[in-house]
Amino acid sequence: MSLSQPQQPPTSAQLHEILERHWGYTAFRPLQEEIITSVLQGHDTLGLMPTGGGKSLTFQVPALALPGLTLVVTPLISLMKDQVDNLGAVGVPALYLHAGLTASEQRLAIDKCRLGKAKLLYVSPEKLQGTNFREQLRQFSISLIVVDEAHCISQWGYDFRPSYLQLATLRQMLPGVSVLALTATATPPVVTDIVKQLQFGSDHWVLAKSFARSNLSYVVRYGDHKEGMLLRVLTHTAGSAIVYVRSRRRTREIAATLKRYGLSADFYHAGLAIEDKNEKQQRWKTDQTRIMVATNAFGMGIDKPDVRVVVHYDLAPSLEEYYQEAGRAGRDGQESYAVTLAAPHDKATLARYLARAFPPKEYIRRVYELVGNFLSVAVGSGYGQVFPFNLETFCDTFKLHPAEVRSSLLLLTRAGYISFQDEISTRSRVMILASKADLYGVELDSETDAVLQMLLRTYPGLFADYVVINEGLIASRLSLPRETVYQGLLRLQRLKLLHYVPQSTTPYILYTTSRELPRHVELPLSVYEEQRERMANRIKAVTEYVFTTTRCRGEMLLEYFGETPQGRCDKCDVCRQGRRPASPEGLDVKEAILNHLSQTASLTVADLHRLTGAPEGEIIATLRLLMDKGKVKARPGGLVFSLA
Ligand code: ADP
Repeated sequence: MSLSQPQQPPTSAQLHEILERHWGYTAFRPLQEEIITSVLQGHDTLGLMPTGGGKSLTFQVPALALPGLTLVVTPLISLMKDQVDNLGAVGVPALYLHAGLTASEQRLAIDKCRLGKAKLLYVSPEKLQGTNFREQLRQFSISLIVVDEAHCISQWGYDFRPSYLQLATLRQMLPGVSVLALTATATPPVVTDIVKQLQFGSDHWVLAKSFARSNLSYVVRYGDHKEGMLLRVLTHTAGSAIVYVRSRRRTREIAATLKRYGLSADFYHAGLAIEDKNEKQQRWKTDQTRIMVATNAFGMGIDKPDVRVVVHYDLAPSLEEYYQEAGRAGRDGQESYAVTLAAPHDKATLARYLARAFPPKEYIRRVYELVGNFLSVAVGSGYGQVFPFNLETFCDTFKLHPAEVRSSLLLLTRAGYISFQDEISTRSRVMILASKADLYGVELDSETDAVLQMLLRTYPGLFADYVVINEGLIASRLSLPRETVYQGLLRLQRLKLLHYVPQSTTPYILYTTSRELPRHVELPLSVYEEQRERMANRIKAVTEYVFTTTRCRGEMLLEYFGETPQGRCDKCDVCRQGRRPASPEGLDVKEAILNHLSQTASLTVADLHRLTGAPEGEIIATLRLLMDKGKVKARPGGLVFSLA
């Protein structure tokens, strides 16, 4: 539907008609229609909805109802393509722009917007910094500005991004265009800050959905041996699971341990090749893998409704992140668990997160200097230039610690010297440059010709636009090695028949000011000291949440997000203390073993495994402990146990 008179907002029936025609849904989710109506009435609007609540439709429906282009600013570059593809599939023309695209791809997208061939344009906030892009924006007819992940504009939030501050200038450039800001997580100071930073009009609306999750039980388990605790949780729950850890190496190690105990598990982190990531995600989504052990890179944009348990093996550094990750459990409304495993040493680990996130200022200046040398950028030059940047090679070259270098680059980004982007991973793309006649006239060796023919057969639309391709698929269809396909594509490119952009996971650095002498690099209070203090406060809130055993966890979370709880949740480990079943794993293994031994004179490890469901390794460890305490004894031969 295209309304010629945007002054008259569509009726509820018309909005439902758009919803059903494009998405096939018959009803809006809670708050969706309120947000959409507020936007279409021209109010600046802030929508607060938990992850999975359905934020995307709150701007996609208005985008269809409004006459011009809807500009969507989002930092989640890795998700842009999926969103645009999904929109294409329901008949909504959409495009995206970020610095990871080639210049010609960007030109193509901009031309299409100018010609009104898109209803939505997704852009990364960094794009807004370029004067070129701002000039081009003036030529588009923009109806609505959407700011996704709006908490990124606030220095009070856990994920402040200075490039978001550019949004204020966008407002001045596009007066009269209203803004819809969306976020899944914002504490009250962040909400106030978003409204201020985005210069909301006095008639703005803040629409929030409660953060309460009635089907989710928050549970904290304390102990020194997290592996045993994890095994117990996973063997006593059924269904899809995510285990969050904070190191890439540990994702692999823990998944291997789980597999050793016969559980179906895999691992995931941002450093894997795109194809691996896709395959792992797919297997987990289709329940071929039950448990995904992952860093926080896993989950964004993954919409699996029947996750039964999310375990935090390592603590998250903020309750905002914790709530989002835990909230991936039970989106289907069925009973689910969010389990945190806490050990006494976790307090020291959290303090280390803080030290890593804020290395000494001298260290940061040194990193800045070394980056300039590494990229061969002379002092006084570099402004506006983008350089591929391999963090690992850089750290190896200068013998630096990757976590601290990463933090330094992020702080330099916040201070406005560079823009460091490390989550970009683009897939291979191809566009044909030659005309059909030239293409068929050219003489090629047989392998290259086979690659070209298969390319044309597999991917329609190559003459008009860049199309994402999969070299592996072409290789398997042709029964050729992947490398041959790759070489064939490079040859076709050298002949100027097509433009081939191989996939890349290389992060990049964009110089947002010319290279300075290190002594001139300033890290203001607002970037360093104040931010460090805020992070310290967030860590304190996590510590309080995890190590408090006397307050309902649901209530603690709601209060953190500025809500007044309507009573205890009645499901968390604190509320359930003293009641059975008290936890996802039911009885404590130690209690269970003692229980069974008191009923049956003697039992083997295998018997106890069958009776309690706990893994054998854990039973053996617990039996040893009970024997040390003199509560259990082993019969001669050491295979049968009974009460002492
Ligand atoms: P968010 O961005 O808030 O995390 P999404 O916009 O990705 O959530 O939506 C989550 C899921 O809910 C998607 O699969 C989406 O198709 C679905 N969804 C959204 N709105 C509705 C609706 N009104 N009816 C049914 N499903 C919906």
